[in-house]
This record gives sequence, C-alpha cells and structure tokens, in this order.
Amino acid sequence: MNSLSKTFSLVFLLFFTSFVLIAQENSEYKTYKRKRKYTLADSLRGALRPERTCYDVHYYNLAISINPKKKIIGGSNEIHFKVMQPTAKIQVDLFGNMEVEKIVFSDKELTFSRIHHAIFISFPDTLPLHSLQKVQVFYQGSPKVPAQTDQRHGFYWDKDEKGRDWIGLCCEHLGASFWFPNKDHLSDEPDSMRMHYTFPADLTCISNGVLEKIDTLSQQKTYHWFSKNPINNYNVTFYLGHYAALTLPYTNGNGEHEITHYFLDYERDAANTYFQHTPTFVKFFEDLYGEYPFWNEKLAIVQSPYLGMEHQTCVAIGRAVTIEEYENWAYVHQIPWASVVPHEIAHEWWGNAVSANDMADVWLHEGFATYSELLLIESALGREAYLKEVEKRRTFIQYFYPVIGNREVNEDTFSKGDVYYKGALILHELREEIGDSRVFFAVLKRFFMQYKYKTVNTEDFINTVNDVTKKGYTKFLKDKLYKIR
Ligand SMILES: [Zn+2]
Repeated sequence: MNSLSKTFSLVFLLFFTSFVLIAQENSEYKTYKRKRKYTLADSLRGALRPERTCYDVHYYNLAISINPKKKIIGGSNEIHFKVMQPTAKIQVDLFGNMEVEKIVFSDKELTFSRIHHAIFISFPDTLPLHSLQKVQVFYQGSPKVPAQTDQRHGFYWDKDEKGRDWIGLCCEHLGASFWFPNKDHLSDEPDSMRMHYTFPADLTCISNGVLEKIDTLSQQKTYHWFSKNPINNYNVTFYLGHYAALTLPYTNGNGEHEITHYFLDYERDAANTYFQHTPTFVKFFEDLYGEYPFWNEKLAIVQSPYLGMEHQTCVAIGRAVTIEEYENWAYVHQIPWASVVPHEIAHEWWGNAVSANDMADVWLHEGFATYSELLLIESALGREAYLKEVEKRRTFIQYFYPVIGNREVNEDTFSKGDVYYKGALILHELREEIGDSRVFFAVLKRFFMQYKYKTVNTEDFINTVNDVTKKGYTKFLKDKLYKIR
C-alpha cells in the first residue's frame, strides 16, 4: 500500500469511526428519549403548577406517632404559607397509599380531592394576596418500604443485631411526600420546621436541627426537634434506635463547636475508629468552601439502617458499608472510612445549604459531593493520587443520560449514577480548563457564599463561573452537562 492509499485509508477509517460514534450516540439518545415518557403523575410531582406557585411555605409543624409493631405512622403536618397569587385551591403532596383523615383550616374541615400523589385542597373563599395562612393535614398509613431491587429509598422498619427496633427513612428523589404531607417540590423550602416524634419509650430519636424537649410518658416518649434553617423536603428525617453518642471538640476561627456521632450502643469501638477523622474532613471543607452552614444547630453523623444520606445536620452513614466495601476506594488505607463520611458531610455545603430547585439539576448535589471526595484525596495523598482516582471514576460513567435531565417532571437522573461521577469529572475538567486552581476554588467559594440557604439551578452556577473568571464558560459547561457524551 502506497502512502497515498494509506492516508486515504486512515482518513476513511477516521471518518467511518466518527460516523459510527455519531450513529451510536444518536441511537442512544433516541432510546433515552423513547424511554422518557412522562405522565400526569410526573407533572403533578415535579412541575411548578399554578396550585403550587400560588403559595410559599415558610414553616412546617410535623407531629407524628411511630408504631413499630403495626408498622404505621400517623399524625398531622401544619403547613404555614404565604399566598403569592390569590387562590381558592392549593396542591399538597402525599403518596396515594397514605390515608388523609381530614384537613383543617380555621377550625373547619376543608374539602379535597386526590389525583395520584397530589391532594387538591379547596378553600371556602379566595385567599388574599400576601396573606399568611395555615392548613393542618391529618393522615396515617404504612409508608412505602424499599423495593428489593432498590435498597435505597423508603421506610426502614429494621432490627439491630440485638433484635431491637431500628427505624429510619431516606427519600432523595422519591420525595418526602411518601411519609408526610408537604409541598414536595425542591424549589420551596420552609424557612424553619418543627418535628415532634412519639414512639416506644425504650428508643432514642435523632433528627434535624436542635432537640428542644423530651416528654416521657410511661410507655412512650416524644422528642421535639427544631430545624432553624431552611431545609429541603428529602432532608427531613428521623432515626429511632438504641443510640449512644461520641462528641469531639472542634474549633474554627469563629469559635468552639462540637461534632457528634450517634451510633448503636454496641458499636462504640467501630464508631471510634472512623469518627476520629471527621473533624479533618470538616476543617478541609470549611477552608475550601466557607464555614459549615449549620453551626447554630449541630453537626452530626448518625449510623443508619441504609447506605447513607445527606440528612441536614444529621447525615446518615450506613452499617451496610463494610470495611471491604471501603477497600474499593483507592485511599482507604490512608484515610479509613473516608468515602461515605466525607461525601455525606460535603453535602451540608452542596445539597443542604445550597440546594437545587429541581431534580434535573441534582448534579449540583451529587457531582459536587463526589468531587469533594476527590479533593480530599488530592489534599491527603497528592496530585498523582487525585488524577489516578479521577481516571478510575471516569470508568464508572455510563453515558446514558445527560447529566441535566428534564425539569418539572421530578427526573430520575440517579438511575445510572452519572450525576455523581460525570458530575464530579465535569468539575475536574472545568478546573483544568480554567487552568488556575485558585480561580476555580474562588468560583466554588463564591457559589457557596452567594447561595447558601437558597435554591439554585445550573444557570446560577454557570453565571458564577463566568462572573468570577471574567470569561465565558457557558458553552463548555452546557456541552458537557446537556449532551450525553
Ligand atoms: Zn450524595
């Protein structure tokens, strides 16, 4: 073969290869489009419908009893809201398998109808603009338990190794309306929330925020918790079990604090082992992003009957995570227990303080928390280890969905995990593209400081990148976030 035909063959091969790749991508995208058929249920759950945008929640007051024997919960949630558009009808969400007993407004029962997981509440008169209102939804039922195929989302009526009750829940993407009535859309966080949990007296309850009071009756206890800060719906949670606590002092430039680890009372040694690293993670993230946003409540990690979750001020660390599983992480021997713990703690900045306002943008939670793990590796083990881990995580990317899904449908961008790994690698690539790590970290810090306690979407992040760098990264980021490859 002469050099001309070699060149021709090479050009043809390149052309053919890219044609195959484009064709593959197109058919992949078509499959993606085909599979994404949205229903009325998706819109009711995920859209900012007029019956939702007409009101703004400012406070929830949730009071429930938990009955482990019957596996039911019940009680009420008071929804305090401001009227943003005059209306005689609002939408509140509660899964269809949960029974609504009554809805009370100004001491009178209201009429309501239910479609899928939405409740439409009718008021006798139009509620005036900017007025402050309150409805109390009484309900009960057996909340959804995790499917066998998805040991992640739902209500856990578990037992500890001594056969005692160990109860908890997690519901990222599933939504808090699977267990209590609320306006289940990420764009509307209450400014604060009280949670009153009544349960058998032998158990202890950990929840979000600060513990205000414990009432004890002969057979039952009620714990009263208060989240002083805005909280997104899926972060609201509680843990019931036979918990003990370890506390470590923590000091930063603004004062002295405590970090608490709640664990099952027979796990003290294991808890001690991995808890000792937690202050290091917190210090690292405070230096990088800004001060921990919930010191006015607490910083706690809690042993949970499921893998992990970023529950605000009481992040879950699962017992299912064994030492062997940690060995899959490159840095396990240098920083034991370093994967799930820092991931969930990083969410206090990314996901909890700065929260996405639609599930389509949830890479702002998961990509950022996953990238925080990589930054911790870089800080502890150096640049080479960091780059090695970046390449390892690249192999986990499925390239099945775009990182950003469709808005207003409660998109399940979790199903292939790309919001984690691809999300993290997009941050890595942005840092490389910017070329100066100090500028890149200034972007992250500004994004946190500007939007803490608020909800955001990806455009807010892109605008921050462009503002801080004084350059245009819109196309760079949109190509990576909206295209499958
Ligand atoms: Zn996460």
